[in-house]
This record gives sequence, structure tokens and C-alpha cells, in this order.
Amino acid sequence: MLDPLPPWANDAPASTVLAALGPDARFVGGCVRDALIGAVPVDIDIGVPYPPEDTIAKLTAAKLRAIPTGIEHGTVTALSGKAKYEITSLRRDVETFGRHARVAFDADWREDAARRDFTINALSLDQAGALHDYFDGRADLEAGRVRFIGDAATRIREDVLRILRFFRFHARFARGDFDGASLAACRDGAALLPNLSAERVCAEMFRLLAGPNAASMLAAMRDARLLAHWLPEADEAGIAHIAALDALETKLGVAAADPIRRLACFALDAREFARRWRLSNAQAARLERFIRPPARIEAGLDAAALSRVFYWLGDDLRDRALIDAALFADPAQAVAVFAAAKDWVRPEFPIGGEDLRAAGVAPGPAMGNALRAAERAWVDSNFSLSKENLLARAAKNEP
Ligand code: ATP
Ligand code: MG
Repeated sequence: MLDPLPPWANDAPASTVLAALGPDARFVGGCVRDALIGAVPVDIDIGVPYPPEDTIAKLTAAKLRAIPTGIEHGTVTALSGKAKYEITSLRRDVETFGRHARVAFDADWREDAARRDFTINALSLDQAGALHDYFDGRADLEAGRVRFIGDAATRIREDVLRILRFFRFHARFARGDFDGASLAACRDGAALLPNLSAERVCAEMFRLLAGPNAASMLAAMRDARLLAHWLPEADEAGIAHIAALDALETKLGVAAADPIRRLACFALDAREFARRWRLSNAQAARLERFIRPPARIEAGLDAAALSRVFYWLGDDLRDRALIDAALFADPAQAVAVFAAAKDWVRPEFPIGGEDLRAAGVAPGPAMGNALRAAERAWVDSNFSLSKENLLARAAKNEP
């Protein structure tokens, strides 16, 4: 029993959805696991013992919005108030080949739990508050043990992504060593990892990178040769940098959920990497700026020198301050630099193209060069050169 129910399980939007779905609907997966340890779930999944067309019919009859977000694998998203619920029909694998498993919607609760990955992810909670735990997930959660349901090697052959998921969930829920059988099966499955799609790898690895204990998981994965294909750049120095960044973020209370900031700790070719992991253009651009910043914050810079570096970093200042300061030998200095970066107000370069045109300079590449040269001189003067002085310089700079 789970008594009392967690607040998200019987608030108004949840009650409306459950009333529509009927008494047999249960909360399933991550939200139940999170409730047991008093954590707030990211998303709420519900299981129902009927096919997805029935889910849509029931939601629609109750005037709730039903979106067929993954109808072929049985998932319908319900909107209730401001909340969102993923409702999935109980499934049984007819055939498994990675994500493209063919499923049938005639499974019972135990069969549905059995096709999930880890024991701690296979719990369900019914509307009377009874916990259904077919594979000792609760005991594993309490003991801090992450292990596969059934034979680990078989489960990995069914879907190789589970190797990456093993480390992500171990990082979050385990205490102590890896489950030996699970780790051995992951190591044996290394050769299958290149078969995964970049999109799935990226989604899973981003969550691992942004989560707790990322550095120690990466180290373990590297030791088990699990990064050779997707992240061969993960070397000892880069992993140590991520550990230092993690420690600094924790100390500063910075939300850690930024995988790109962590990837920037590795010496990688941003463009090639972006292709390999199929990053979006925005992600790729951000990674590229982080990997080759216009200036670096070094330990021991005085206030004026820091200001000059801060200026060139522009909108990336806070991220770069974290990445760079994580490498400082003196933690107090790292904290001070981040505080300075956070409060720093970027001075505005006093002149622009309009000013130069008014001073008689013709627009074109030469004007751009003149402006950039003036900006450099202005920054090097610690932002002290006057507008007149800058205009005169820029006008003179014109070839
Ligand atoms: P999080 O809080 O990180 O979202 P979660 O448990 O909700 O954790 P998801 O990746 O959102 O994890 O997946 C939801 C549930 O679906 C899992 O708890 C698990 O039961 C099941 N699941 C997801 N992916 C797989 C997979 N590749 N193989 C087996 N089961 C999976
Ligand atoms: Mg989830």
C-alpha cells in the first residue's frame, strides 16, 4: 500500500483522467518509483488494460483532449487542466528489434511489467493505493540496486539502448557497486551499440550527462569500452573536468541540467560530433562556441582583465565561467569568478555603423573591420575610450 497517495495521484486533473479511464487504470513506471522515494516525477504514466482506441473513446466521452502521441505502441496523451498524462495500453512483445518492437495490446499487468527494463521501473500503483511489484522493484529501490528484469543479456539483445539506460538509472537510484550480472551483460553488449540510432543515443546520453554522478558513470562506461563508438573523446582529463564542473555547480546551486556544457569538457570536433549525435542546429552552434570560445577565463586574472574576457564571452559568459572556473585549483576563486560573472553588466560599445556613416565612412566590409578594430581598442582600454576617440580611430582605419 502507498498511504497516503502522492499528491499528483489524486489532485483534480488526475482524478478527472482516472474517472474517465475507469477503475482498472493504474499509475506505472517512473512515477511510482519516484513516489516511493519521495521524489516528484517528471512525467506521469498510466497503464490501461484495453487497446488505445478505447483509451481515446473514453477520454473523448469525458470531454478530455486525447492526442495519439504514439498510437502504434499504444500511447495516448491526455490533457487535463494544465497536466499531461501518457496513457499506454498494456503491451506484450510479439517481436523485438530495438525500438521497432511489434506489440500486442492483450497483455496482463505482469506481462506488461516484464517487458520493462529494470525492476525499479516495473512498479504499478492502483487507485486503491495498492502497490503491484512483480519483480521485487521496491526491495531493489530500497537497497539501491539497479538490475535488469530477467536475463540481462537477453534484455540487452532485445534493445541495446538499455545499456545506456542502465548507467543512467544506476547514477540516480543506486548506492554502491554495479549489479555484477547487469554490468557484465552491458560489457558483453558493447559491439551492438553502433546499431543504435543517433537520436535515441543522444536523448539517453543527454539525460545521463545532465544527471547526477555523470562523471563516475562515464568513467565506468569508458572502462567497459562502451563509449568507443559514440563518445570516444571521453578521456580521463575530460571526465575529471566534468566531475569538477559537477562539484562547482552543486556548490553554487546551479541547475545541472545542461548536457552541452558538460560535453564541452571534452576535446571534441564540434561539427563532426554534432553530425554523429544529430544535434539540432542550435545545439551544434552552442557546442561549437563552448569548444572554441573567443576568450578563456584563467585563474589569477585581476578584475580589469576578467572584465575584458567577460566582454568577449557575451551571452555564453555564465556557461563559460562554470566550465573554466571548474578547472581552478582554488575553489574559493572559482566561486568568486562565477559570482562576478553573474553580476557583471556588459558595457555597450559606444559606436555603430550609423555613427560611422554619419562621419563619412562608406558601408561595406572595410567599415566592419574598422568597427571591430575600434571595439578591440575600446575593450583593451578597459572600456574607457570615448565615443569621439573611437569614431576618429574607425574613420582613420578605413583603407
Ligand atoms: P524519468 O524520470 O527519467 O523519465 P522514467 O522511468 O519515466 O524515468 P522513461 O525513459 O521516461 O523513464 O521511460 C518510462 C518507463 O518506460 C520506464 O520506467 C520503463 O518502465 C519503460 N521503458 C522506457 N524505455 C524502455 C526500454 N528501452 N526498455 C524497456 N522499458 C523501457
Ligand atoms: Mg519518464
